[in-house]
Amino acid sequence: MQYTTQMDAARKGIITGEMEAAAKKEQMDVQELMALMAKGQVIIPCNKKHTSLEPNAIGSMLRTKINVNLGISRDCKDMDIEIEKVSHAVKMGAESIMDLSSYGDTRTFRRRLTKECPAMIGTVPIYDAVVYYHKPLKEITSRQWLDIVRMHAEDGVDFMTIHCGINKETAGRFKRNKRLTNIVSRGGSIIFAWMEMTGQENPFYEHYDEILEICREYDITMSLGDACRPGCIRDASDISQIQELITLGELTKRAWEKDVQVMVEGPGHMPLDQIAANMKIQQTLCQGAPFYVLGPLVTDIAPGYDHITAAIGGAIAAAYGASFLCYVTPAEHLRLPSLDDVKEGIMASRIAAHAADIAKGVRGAADWDNKMSAARKKLDWEEMFRLCLDPEKAKRFRAEAKPEKEDTCSMCGNFCAVKNMNRILEGEIVNIYDE
Ligand code: SF4
Repeated sequence: MQYTTQMDAARKGIITGEMEAAAKKEQMDVQELMALMAKGQVIIPCNKKHTSLEPNAIGSMLRTKINVNLGISRDCKDMDIEIEKVSHAVKMGAESIMDLSSYGDTRTFRRRLTKECPAMIGTVPIYDAVVYYHKPLKEITSRQWLDIVRMHAEDGVDFMTIHCGINKETAGRFKRNKRLTNIVSRGGSIIFAWMEMTGQENPFYEHYDEILEICREYDITMSLGDACRPGCIRDASDISQIQELITLGELTKRAWEKDVQVMVEGPGHMPLDQIAANMKIQQTLCQGAPFYVLGPLVTDIAPGYDHITAAIGGAIAAAYGASFLCYVTPAEHLRLPSLDDVKEGIMASRIAAHAADIAKGVRGAADWDNKMSAARKKLDWEEMFRLCLDPEKAKRFRAEAKPEKEDTCSMCGNFCAVKNMNRILEGEIVNIYDE
């Protein structure tokens, strides 16, 4: 092969099959896509060993992509149930699945995913190390943390969240500048605890070059983890978050020097008025590397509805430059999501992503809406269902409250503005009260 990673190929002017497939989906010229990839502003996460992958590109000027977190855990050990959730998630439009398994035979599950799943697969090796070594946290050695990264690479994952931004310096600042909710990143809390107990530097930071070599070998996209993402609106944009982001900016450059594709993870919980500025700071510090946001959740008071708090923040974040949204379900902060929660979370994220794409002027985004509006004007219900984000729900709702007149709906009945306007503009008499 004449190239190592997709970024390397782009820099050498080689058009790969993955670039062609992704450009077609974006209705974009492949040369244009390749030029953005060469600069690191677009990525195609695609481990050479993930042969069932249907590639997608991620970048702020492309269609916003969404990720769904799933995986086996102590409270949901059944691999087949989790695989079923994965296949539902892909059918519902998720471009990416993050396997956050934290219990049992995680390797078999991970390998099953990369064998069968056409979506990008991401993992967080820190979680898996704790399960795999099955010993007290402080006894895990630096070498063992790194061995897990290689194992995930061999298993075919397309991107890995590596919490390398929380080094000793950031940890020191975090301790000096108290937060309301400390560290809420699962991986961040694990590596912080390990550093505190062993007194050692974060191995993912200390041995970053070695991790980059692994990423280069398999073409794994580095997802630079945000251990210090704010866990409440009060902690948003604080010293720890920004300190870590500065480090992630430096690590982005080091990855690009080795042709390793990078995206940067971001907040978290954040008041609405801070989101646009955060996107700008990230794009500046990380030189346009795609931003992968976890929410942001714009208020802390709505457990049970956090798919909505996250969708509001996600839409704003993506409109101002984020490329990739991690879904949030109504079960966030409360319990593991059920299949219904997964569906609600995906739909909320897809709405946020699409709303942002319209605002950004992404190719073809508003066309979809215009087709829906044309069908509405014609009261063409079959066409409306065909164009729906969730046709099953739309059909069910209409069937549950059948209108007296088939062409309208039970919302306004005879007062249907659409129908009455169509009629009056066609020269008909409109009476309403006795029709
Ligand atoms: S009845 Fe009202 S809500 Fe229903 S299609 Fe007509 S205008 Fe729209």
